[in-house]
Amino acid sequence: MAPYSLLVSRLQKALGARQYHVASVLCQRAKVAMSHFEPNEYIRYDLLEKNINIVRKRLNRPLTLSEKIVYGHLDDPANQEIERGKTYLRLRPDRVAMQDATAQMAMLQFISSGLPKVAVPSTIHCDHLIEAQLGGEKDLRRAKDINQEVYNFLATAGAKYGVGFWRPGSGIIHQIILENYAYPGVLLIGTDSHTPNGGGLGGICIGVGGADAVDVMAGIPWELKCPKVIGVKLTGSLSGWTSPKDVILKVAGILTVKGGTGAIVEYHGPGVDSISCTGMATICNMGAEIGATTSVFPYNHRMKKYLSKTGRADIANLADEFKDHLVPDSGCHYDQLIEINLSELKPHINGPFTPDLAHPVAEVGSVAEKEGWPLDIRVGLIGSCTNSSYEDMGRSAAVAKQALAHGLQCKSQFTITPGSEQIRATIERDGYAQILRDVGGIVLANACGPCIGQWDRKDIKKGEKNTIVTSYNRNFTGRNDANPETHAFVTSPEIVTALAIAGTLKFNPETDFLTGKDGKKFKLEAPDADELPRAEFDPGQDTYQHPPKDSSGQQVDVSPTSQRLQLLEPFDKWDGRDLEDLQILIKVKGKCTTDHISAAGPWLKFRGHLDNISNNLLIGAINVENGKANSVRNAVTQEFGPVPDTARYYKKHGIRWVVIGDENYGEGSSREHAALEPRHLGGRAIITKSFARIHETNLKKQGLLPLTFADPADYNKIHLGAGPSSPRALPGSTVSRSPVPAPPASPHWQPRVTRPAEPGGAGATWPVSRVCPQRPHSSQASSLCPFWFVCSDTAAPHPRHILVSLPHLEQLRSRPRGQRTVSDCQRPQGNTGTQAHSPRVPRHWEATKLALAVRDPGLSPRGRTWVTLPEP
Ligand code: SF4
Repeated sequence: MAPYSLLVSRLQKALGARQYHVASVLCQRAKVAMSHFEPNEYIRYDLLEKNINIVRKRLNRPLTLSEKIVYGHLDDPANQEIERGKTYLRLRPDRVAMQDATAQMAMLQFISSGLPKVAVPSTIHCDHLIEAQLGGEKDLRRAKDINQEVYNFLATAGAKYGVGFWRPGSGIIHQIILENYAYPGVLLIGTDSHTPNGGGLGGICIGVGGADAVDVMAGIPWELKCPKVIGVKLTGSLSGWTSPKDVILKVAGILTVKGGTGAIVEYHGPGVDSISCTGMATICNMGAEIGATTSVFPYNHRMKKYLSKTGRADIANLADEFKDHLVPDSGCHYDQLIEINLSELKPHINGPFTPDLAHPVAEVGSVAEKEGWPLDIRVGLIGSCTNSSYEDMGRSAAVAKQALAHGLQCKSQFTITPGSEQIRATIERDGYAQILRDVGGIVLANACGPCIGQWDRKDIKKGEKNTIVTSYNRNFTGRNDANPETHAFVTSPEIVTALAIAGTLKFNPETDFLTGKDGKKFKLEAPDADELPRAEFDPGQDTYQHPPKDSSGQQVDVSPTSQRLQLLEPFDKWDGRDLEDLQILIKVKGKCTTDHISAAGPWLKFRGHLDNISNNLLIGAINVENGKANSVRNAVTQEFGPVPDTARYYKKHGIRWVVIGDENYGEGSSREHAALEPRHLGGRAIITKSFARIHETNLKKQGLLPLTFADPADYNKIHLGAGPSSPRALPGSTVSRSPVPAPPASPHWQPRVTRPAEPGGAGATWPVSRVCPQRPHSSQASSLCPFWFVCSDTAAPHPRHILVSLPHLEQLRSRPRGQRTVSDCQRPQGNTGTQAHSPRVPRHWEATKLALAVRDPGLSPRGRTWVTLPEP
């Protein structure tokens, strides 16, 4: 069946299209539909133009392309304060896209809003929950079975609330967006950090958290800090082994993972025309790795060609008419300008463990040898939303074909992830898939798979050091296979293919030779392939479900006993008081991405169940105190345990907590679970040197304070542990930070604690404890176990002391006066403090005052901070 007629018949089926004359809708020029699937939702270039003119008049200066598109979507262009990097813009995006892992929480939040329908065209895409195991069809069947409950929820919620639903097997969200929904000048938000992929078609497409998506779906203007603009001027032209991926690998090396924060990266210059539309999408897609708000290319003939090939010539024609608004004004100002000569750009490969560690392919082998990274490549993986276009597959197949001609197959394992059903069907039809299989590849399902840790990897054991090369975008520790010892490198699909054939990082296809089956040496030629299929795309299987016109009878079921879905309860409200005396749950060392905060892989299945997924909270983050992942000291019991368990302990005991983070905390994906989970488990603030943009917004949306140190060096002043420690206080108690007076010469000295005034009351200062004259013992005891209490009965003629652990003190505190005996307190393990201090301690001793001594070397080597425990 010809694709166009197939499209029309699908539309008629989906829309009950008796009412529509589909062909005429698609071909109208004055009123062009945003997509084939929403014939009544029109592209509003007229409004874009009107708003741009208002803003241009106000600002009286040339505008960059991203400014035109962003300001063209202002809610109130006449009055909006506009200052790059400073003011917050209120915007009206054209549409919303959600992937299945984030859509669950977004739809659960939308359901909580009580609204009957979404306010803007929106779609859900089932791509993240499909695990790569045996290959495309089998994996897809298995995923449908395992995730049936979630898919059913998303399908019925989509039908109920007017959201288009792309079933599992349809492909990866960003590829589907590019093929069907993105267009020049669109403002689209998506609940996935690689939403910027749509910048390859001249749209401003921004990754957001689910709560932002819910705002837009509810018809509320969406807030975005007015982005700065980084210009990347491209000159020269791409050729040989150099590909679009190398542009972003190079830019990532220049700007690093946080260099794009708060900015839109705008590509321009004569070199742009040498890049295909899907190549531009690759560049924008991976722009997420430099923290950029998004990236965008100006409208050009390559985009027109792609729009026409994907059945949207009407949009291209309309864009031609409005072209002046879809390119930057000449003389516009960029906050930063980078220039890259594509003719001089060499193939790159970035990694391991971070996407900004850039190496020319020619050099990576020697760097790896020096650094001790494994040279043998265990697996090469091509595809994903970043690099799975027809052109990518064609160039990889062109490399594979040469190896096959010399009797070679891949030395490494080799996998191929088509980005969409349309790509899969087309590369099958055109023979690329078979070539890639012949060279040893396994074609996986049209889904995220190993890119998001959905990879049932069998060839190595966890903890085994190994190297993989991918054409994906992200290579943080453990992302692909949950093995922290996997050294993942990102590069173009054609380089992955060449490296998988050679089997080693030391291979440079530009200069090195391979040995054919016949023993003869040969060199791979630089790949050449069509940018788009010569025939029409084959749309493959129909995988789209359009929401019904009347959804009043539609049920959306969430079982109360479900382990995968859970309706949301409101978080507790702020009590109006300042947050004080918060416990540090963990001080994170170094990089802490959303993968570290809320791991993916096997945890993806709990994305719709907040309590269950909270069991992965920060399990990948490295604790400064012991250099370990998922091991933090419980400040009450002093035992090290998993982060989520410790957070739950604090929550149960009413102890509010914070996280201390390093730079660019929360970089990576848009997943709002990284903000929901700490809020759910009792977190109150995240205090860091700096935040990644989406994560900071997500924290605010979920009621967690994202705080940054006024001076980033203050991060180093926070000490944890049995030595340097942070004080621990029970709720309502007060930590006195004033230095405790040095002990007088007299054998008995009496520290005092100051309790600040409560609202409406007076403060107080009173003695709380005596310290045994056997001070060395006391210090020793405290250093053994800094959170043991020295309790004493100050009213007694002879002070009596006993060390009591905090849990026991809590027990004591909850009892009425007169019943606070410590006879049932257990002695601290390995601690002889009780006997040493008070050999005559009575069996039944009543504590009249309770005080906590915490070693605080920040005050003095022997200093202590005293915490009083108020009456319950
Ligand atoms: S980056 Fe990977 S996980 Fe994210 S959408 Fe793309 S393929 Fe899926």
